Amino acid sequence: MVKQKLVLRFPSTLVEQPVIYHLVKDYDLMVNILRADINPKKEGRLMLELSGGEADYRRALDWLQAQGLTVMNLKQQITWNEGRCTHCGACSVICPSGALILSRPEMTVHFDEAKCVVCELCLKACPARAMETLLENAK
Ligand code: SF4
Ligand code: SF4
Repeated sequence: MVKQKLVLRFPSTLVEQPVIYHLVKDYDLMVNILRADINPKKEGRLMLELSGGEADYRRALDWLQAQGLTVMNLKQQITWNEGRCTHCGACSVICPSGALILSRPEMTVHFDEAKCVVCELCLKACPARAMETLLENAK
């Protein structure tokens, strides 16, 4: 049994492909979509969790890559580079899950990875680029 979070990147020519349908129907995988940025005629990005049999999972990765998708493991969801953080608090205002909290009166930010839902809002909000997503090649 495999359970893996992945990031799929679609070239603009493939964003309308029924990828999820094939993963479920042809490879008997369970798909949990964590985040989707799919715009017609633009590059798409899909963050999901796949679970199922090892052989089916490997075959599905081969199929995805043969379709022209880039497949990356979401190794560790979101990381906080504390050394870069200036504790400005911008991320704590927009974090929807309470993973980033500004403690008062100290006015210091803390990151609770277990609460993170990988929405990536903090990546865009952080002026110091202290919030990062770790990816690695899936194969
Ligand atoms: S990715 Fe989203 S949920 Fe996770 S820490 Fe950033 S803003 Fe919060
Ligand atoms: S937005 Fe960036 S620099 Fe500001 S508190 Fe959050 S992680 Fe630190």
